[in-house]
Amino acid sequence: MNAPEPSLSHLAEVVPPLEQIVVACAIAQSQRIGAQPLIRGLDDAAFAALCARCLPGVPLTNGRSASAPFDEFDELFALLCEHASPRDELSVWIAAAIATAAQRDEHLWQDMGLPSRRELSAILNLRFPSLAALNDRDMKWKKFFYRQLCLRAEVPICKSPNCADCSDLAVCFGPED
Ligand code: SF4
Repeated sequence: MNAPEPSLSHLAEVVPPLEQIVVACAIAQSQRIGAQPLIRGLDDAAFAALCARCLPGVPLTNGRSASAPFDEFDELFALLCEHASPRDELSVWIAAAIATAAQRDEHLWQDMGLPSRRELSAILNLRFPSLAALNDRDMKWKKFFYRQLCLRAEVPICKSPNCADCSDLAVCFGPED
Protein backbone atom coordinates (compact mmCIF):
# COMPACT_ATOMS: atom_id res chain seq x y z
CA MET A 1 0.00 0.00 0.00
CA ASN A 2 1.06 3.60 -0.36
CA ALA A 3 1.88 5.26 2.91
CA PRO A 4 0.31 8.68 3.38
CA GLU A 5 2.45 11.61 2.39
CA PRO A 6 4.14 13.03 5.48
CA SER A 7 3.71 16.62 6.44
CA LEU A 8 6.87 18.51 5.52
CA SER A 9 6.38 20.79 8.50
CA HIS A 10 7.52 17.98 10.81
CA LEU A 11 10.62 16.91 8.92
CA ALA A 12 13.07 19.04 10.84
CA GLU A 13 11.62 18.45 14.31
CA VAL A 14 13.48 16.58 16.99
CA VAL A 15 11.97 13.18 17.73
CA PRO A 16 10.25 13.26 21.15
CA PRO A 17 11.45 10.71 23.76
CA LEU A 18 8.44 8.37 23.65
CA GLU A 19 8.48 8.11 19.88
CA GLN A 20 12.24 7.56 19.98
CA ILE A 21 11.87 4.74 22.50
CA VAL A 22 9.10 3.05 20.52
CA VAL A 23 10.98 3.13 17.23
CA ALA A 24 14.28 2.05 18.80
CA CYS A 25 12.65 -0.81 20.75
CA ALA A 26 10.71 -2.03 17.72
CA ILE A 27 13.84 -2.16 15.58
CA ALA A 28 15.88 -3.78 18.35
CA GLN A 29 13.21 -6.44 18.85
CA SER A 30 13.11 -7.18 15.11
CA GLN A 31 16.88 -7.55 15.16
CA ARG A 32 16.71 -9.77 18.25
CA ILE A 33 14.36 -12.25 16.60
CA GLY A 34 15.97 -11.99 13.16
CA ALA A 35 12.95 -10.42 11.46
CA GLN A 36 13.37 -9.19 7.91
CA PRO A 37 12.57 -6.49 7.07
CA LEU A 38 12.99 -4.82 10.44
CA ILE A 39 9.94 -2.71 9.73
CA ARG A 40 7.58 -3.62 6.93
CA GLY A 41 5.86 -1.10 4.72
CA LEU A 42 8.80 1.29 4.44
CA ASP A 43 10.83 1.62 1.28
CA ASP A 44 14.57 2.23 1.43
CA ALA A 45 14.20 6.01 1.41
CA ALA A 46 11.64 5.98 4.22
CA PHE A 47 13.75 3.64 6.34
CA ALA A 48 16.83 5.78 5.76
CA ALA A 49 14.85 8.86 6.82
CA LEU A 50 13.66 7.01 9.95
CA CYS A 51 17.23 6.09 10.86
CA ALA A 52 18.50 9.59 10.23
CA ARG A 53 15.94 11.06 12.61
CA CYS A 54 15.44 8.36 15.22
CA LEU A 55 18.73 6.47 15.30
CA PRO A 56 21.40 8.81 13.93
CA GLY A 57 24.81 7.23 13.62
CA VAL A 58 23.47 3.67 13.88
CA PRO A 59 24.23 1.74 10.68
CA LEU A 60 21.04 -0.12 9.72
CA THR A 61 19.39 -1.50 6.66
CA ASN A 62 15.80 -2.63 6.71
CA GLY A 63 16.38 -5.90 4.86
CA ARG A 64 13.96 -7.77 2.68
CA SER A 65 11.83 -10.80 3.32
CA ALA A 66 11.69 -13.69 0.92
CA SER A 67 8.34 -14.68 2.39
CA ALA A 68 4.96 -13.30 1.40
CA PRO A 69 3.64 -10.34 3.41
CA PHE A 70 1.46 -11.14 6.39
CA ASP A 71 -2.22 -11.26 5.61
CA GLU A 72 -3.32 -8.36 7.75
CA PHE A 73 -0.28 -6.09 7.58
CA ASP A 74 -1.68 -3.73 4.97
CA GLU A 75 -5.06 -3.51 6.68
CA LEU A 76 -3.64 -2.76 10.11
CA PHE A 77 -1.09 -0.31 8.73
CA ALA A 78 -3.89 1.49 6.88
CA LEU A 79 -6.14 1.52 9.95
CA LEU A 80 -3.41 3.08 12.08
CA CYS A 81 -2.49 5.63 9.40
CA GLU A 82 -6.12 6.68 9.05
CA HIS A 83 -6.20 7.52 12.75
CA ALA A 84 -2.73 9.09 12.93
CA SER A 85 -2.66 12.53 14.47
CA PRO A 86 -0.51 14.27 13.52
CA ARG A 87 -0.38 12.39 10.25
CA ASP A 88 3.32 12.98 9.80
CA GLU A 89 6.18 10.69 8.85
CA LEU A 90 6.87 9.77 12.45
CA SER A 91 3.31 8.50 12.89
CA VAL A 92 3.61 6.52 9.67
CA TRP A 93 6.85 4.92 10.83
CA ILE A 94 5.32 4.00 14.17
CA ALA A 95 2.21 2.63 12.44
CA ALA A 96 4.46 0.44 10.30
CA ALA A 97 6.40 -0.73 13.36
CA ILE A 98 3.18 -1.62 15.19
CA ALA A 99 1.69 -3.44 12.19
CA THR A 100 4.96 -5.34 11.76
CA ALA A 101 5.10 -6.42 15.38
CA ALA A 102 1.39 -7.30 15.52
CA GLN A 103 2.06 -10.33 13.32
CA ARG A 104 4.05 -11.98 16.10
CA ASP A 105 2.79 -14.24 18.87
CA GLU A 106 3.14 -12.44 22.19
CA HIS A 107 1.36 -9.44 23.65
CA LEU A 108 1.87 -6.48 21.34
CA TRP A 109 4.07 -4.53 23.76
CA GLN A 110 6.30 -7.59 24.02
CA ASP A 111 6.34 -8.06 20.26
CA MET A 112 7.53 -4.46 20.01
CA GLY A 113 10.25 -4.95 22.60
CA LEU A 114 8.78 -2.26 24.86
CA PRO A 115 9.44 -2.23 28.62
CA SER A 116 5.71 -2.62 29.44
CA ARG A 117 2.18 -2.19 28.10
CA ARG A 118 2.25 1.34 29.47
CA GLU A 119 4.50 2.64 26.68
CA LEU A 120 2.32 0.98 24.04
CA SER A 121 -0.87 2.52 25.43
CA ALA A 122 0.88 5.88 25.69
CA ILE A 123 2.06 5.94 22.09
CA LEU A 124 -1.33 4.80 20.81
CA ASN A 125 -3.11 7.51 22.76
CA LEU A 126 -0.53 10.08 21.67
CA ARG A 127 -0.20 9.27 17.98
CA PHE A 128 -3.46 7.46 17.15
CA PRO A 129 -5.88 9.06 19.60
CA SER A 130 -9.15 8.47 17.77
CA LEU A 131 -8.37 4.77 17.40
CA ALA A 132 -7.17 4.38 20.98
CA ALA A 133 -10.33 6.10 22.21
CA LEU A 134 -12.42 3.33 20.64
CA ASN A 135 -10.79 0.89 23.05
CA ASP A 136 -12.84 2.33 25.90
CA ARG A 137 -13.04 -1.03 27.68
CA ASP A 138 -9.30 -1.60 27.67
CA MET A 139 -9.25 -4.66 25.44
CA LYS A 140 -5.92 -6.26 24.81
CA TRP A 141 -4.43 -4.13 22.03
CA LYS A 142 -3.85 -6.87 19.50
CA LYS A 143 -7.33 -8.26 20.04
CA PHE A 144 -8.75 -4.76 19.76
CA PHE A 145 -6.99 -4.08 16.44
CA TYR A 146 -8.13 -7.32 14.87
CA ARG A 147 -11.65 -6.80 16.12
CA GLN A 148 -11.61 -3.38 14.43
CA LEU A 149 -10.44 -4.96 11.19
CA CYS A 150 -13.13 -7.63 11.40
CA LEU A 151 -15.80 -5.03 12.07
CA ARG A 152 -14.65 -3.06 9.03
CA ALA A 153 -14.69 -6.16 6.89
CA GLU A 154 -18.06 -7.15 8.35
CA VAL A 155 -16.61 -10.51 9.32
CA PRO A 156 -18.02 -11.52 12.70
CA ILE A 157 -15.40 -13.02 15.00
CA CYS A 158 -17.19 -12.78 18.31
CA LYS A 159 -18.60 -15.92 19.83
CA SER A 160 -21.35 -14.05 21.64
CA PRO A 161 -23.46 -10.93 21.06
CA ASN A 162 -21.99 -9.44 24.21
CA CYS A 163 -18.69 -9.77 25.99
CA ALA A 164 -20.14 -10.57 29.42
CA ASP A 165 -21.56 -13.87 28.16
CA CYS A 166 -18.64 -14.76 25.92
CA SER A 167 -16.29 -17.67 26.56
CA ASP A 168 -13.45 -15.57 25.13
CA LEU A 169 -13.75 -12.85 27.75
CA ALA A 170 -10.38 -13.66 29.28
CA VAL A 171 -8.79 -13.86 25.83
CA CYS A 172 -9.90 -10.38 24.82
CA PHE A 173 -9.58 -8.61 28.17
CA GLY A 174 -7.48 -8.92 31.28
CA PRO A 175 -3.86 -8.24 32.07
CA GLU A 176 -1.31 -8.14 29.28
CA ASP A 177 1.78 -9.05 31.18
S1 SF4 B 1 -15.12 -11.22 24.68
FE1 SF4 B 1 -16.24 -12.30 23.05
S2 SF4 B 1 -17.83 -10.84 22.40
FE2 SF4 B 1 -16.26 -9.65 23.52
S3 SF4 B 1 -14.83 -8.92 21.95
FE3 SF4 B 1 -14.01 -10.85 22.72
S4 SF4 B 1 -14.82 -12.42 21.30
FE4 SF4 B 1 -16.05 -10.56 21.02
